[in-house]
Amino acid sequence: KPTVGFIAGIRHADGRYREVQWRVLTSKTQVFLSGRDVTDDQQAKREIEQLNRQLEAQQLRLQEMAFRDGLTGVFNRRYFDEALQTEWRAAVRDGKSLACLLLDIDHFKLYNDTYGHQEGDDCLAEVSKTLRLLCRRPRDFVARYGGEEFVALLIDTDAAGALHKGQEVVDAIAAMKIRHERSSVGPYLTVSVGVCALVPTADQAPELLVKWADSALYTAKHTGRNRAVLYQDSQDRIPPAD
Ligand code: GH3
Ligand code: MG
Ligand code: MG
Repeated sequence: KPTVGFIAGIRHADGRYREVQWRVLTSKTQVFLSGRDVTDDQQAKREIEQLNRQLEAQQLRLQEMAFRDGLTGVFNRRYFDEALQTEWRAAVRDGKSLACLLLDIDHFKLYNDTYGHQEGDDCLAEVSKTLRLLCRRPRDFVARYGGEEFVALLIDTDAAGALHKGQEVVDAIAAMKIRHERSSVGPYLTVSVGVCALVPTADQAPELLVKWADSALYTAKHTGRNRAVLYQDSQDRIPPAD
């Protein structure tokens, strides 16, 4: 029976290194040493291992891409929907407040009509960058919710904190001074933000957070835009003005 087996590199007479698998067999009085050249096997094994590593890395990249928005690089709607479920459950369990900001660019159709679709795309990327810079706490994240709408999910954040962050975003976008000469708000690009924060309960659906943020966004749009509005349960709805 083999008692020892190991692979060792040796240098062949022609100068190349070979890998040899050695087996040592012992009987009562004799020791047998056998060696098998396993260089090709070993090489094949290493190649397969490297291929596997490449596949794993590629799979990670693909998974990452499947959750990213191509234009802006922020997360996409699919990622948001999944992460919202997860964070909602965590907030229910921990009794913590969960908040979201729903951002919509003001008069963006007019922006496209004035400066062209390419400028519009650039503008979306710029806006998303600023939003991302402002929502940087570990589990917070930004996603593209729709065409010119972004959503930020803010973990363990109450209404006051979320509204403060929402206003910060509005101010930061205005401070970028992206020209928008035909906007009714002013000469620069602005955004409106709907804010919602709540301590979720198990009987509520996660979609409620976005639904209420959207309702607050609607109010922001109809009270002059360029502002952040916090959803309040009994808020009076202002009828459409335009
Ligand atoms: P409001 O202030 O009420 O939000 O007005 P608005 O013009 O921003 O809103 P509306 O919903 O009428 O128009 C949204 C525009 O966003 C229309 C569409 O052409 C533009 N948009 C959506 N997705 C993209 C995109 O990926 N790139 C560009 N350039 N424009 C986009
Ligand atoms: Mg919109
Ligand atoms: Mg808009």
